[in-house]
Amino acid sequence: MTETRTESVDLLIHSRWVIPMDPARSVLPNHCVAIRDKRIVGLCPSSDAGKLYSAAAEKHLNSHALIPGLVNAHGHAAMSLLRGVADDLPLKTWLEEHIWPLEGEHVSREFVYQGSTLAMAEMLRSGTTTFADMYFFPDEVARAAIDAQMRVQLASPVLDFPTIWAADAEEYIRKACTLHDDFRSSEFAHTAFGPHAPYTVSDAPLRKLSMLADELDVPIHMHVHETAQEVSDAVAQHGNRPLQRLHALGMISPRLLCVHATELDAEDIALLADNGASVIHCPESNLKLASGFCKVAALQQHQVNVALGTDGCASNNDLDMIGEMRSAAMLAKAVADDASALPAMEALAMATINGASALGMSADIGSLEVGKLADLTAVDLDAINCWPLHNPVSHLVYACNSSQVSDVWVSGRALLIDGELQTIDIDLLRNQSEDWQRKISGN
Ligand SMILES: [Zn+2]
Repeated sequence: MTETRTESVDLLIHSRWVIPMDPARSVLPNHCVAIRDKRIVGLCPSSDAGKLYSAAAEKHLNSHALIPGLVNAHGHAAMSLLRGVADDLPLKTWLEEHIWPLEGEHVSREFVYQGSTLAMAEMLRSGTTTFADMYFFPDEVARAAIDAQMRVQLASPVLDFPTIWAADAEEYIRKACTLHDDFRSSEFAHTAFGPHAPYTVSDAPLRKLSMLADELDVPIHMHVHETAQEVSDAVAQHGNRPLQRLHALGMISPRLLCVHATELDAEDIALLADNGASVIHCPESNLKLASGFCKVAALQQHQVNVALGTDGCASNNDLDMIGEMRSAAMLAKAVADDASALPAMEALAMATINGASALGMSADIGSLEVGKLADLTAVDLDAINCWPLHNPVSHLVYACNSSQVSDVWVSGRALLIDGELQTIDIDLLRNQSEDWQRKISGN
């Protein structure tokens, strides 16, 4: 009698569809993912799993699409506490007359920890497993992420002027380096530099950041060309467009994540393409603040990596990456005047593998491939709005809503089970949110 040897694994997740976002863009019916020691060790048809694996636990998702955990590549998580406080205003008025004064009055360590936890609860509930964050007290965001066991890349803020976090560019940069040292070995909190925007950071600190980013091997995450006015003001002040200035400073490289990039001419696109920079597209924030339109199809034609972000809750006003994918796909078609622009599969790529690439994390996350960390999201497609089911990828982008997200794993650990958060106390969050509502609105 011959004995068949099976490989021991911690968890087998069987799903009606596995959509791994591998280079072939496979859609695998009735497949399973095998996980051991936080990582994916195999993908196979569920019918073969018994011959290959002996699993300590198995999960059966009979009507679901199993996709890589979504990557929200730009936001300001703690601003979830400012959701809806200043709607329907142009960016400059919104920021200078409402958001900055409110932040001046309320932002504290407690605000950032609690606001970031609220944001993470919303993100996990809607299928996001990794988020990039630019905000004050990034060490509190890190602490909140580690407590929730969710992945974050902290773009430590740098500005020329004083805020509650630092007095001048030198202190912001010093604190960013300390943050990098403190979380160097963290499984969940990673770091980047977050110079706020070309118009708020001068040449000398940008040069220094560029050098330090190379030394520490971390990304530079920056709002760039958010509006036409930003570009025309820069031309009036410096005689060149912000991207030309960044290029002269040696900053345009694969390390650079340009958030928004709504105002791009052909030369700007060539600069990004030739130097391998990524664009983080935030369609709903751009629409709500009437900031302009990112030319996603044109960027993709030039092989620029485009990832997706929600931006902060004060300009969106949610952190729902499934909704954001749909907005991105719709808007790309309108902007390109071409219904074939940004097909569903590529919108899903923007929210997964492209985000991981932009953050410099694609060796570990962004797709369901052997060797990568087991960050996964399950979406239940058995819903009226998804009947009949001709094409699961089409439904994920064009028909689903985020309440269909049922289960989420980060490093193989379940953080959402059948819609219930496992590492965040919802009742506590509700009470804290009510307290902040009273403090901020005064009623
Ligand atoms: Zn932003």
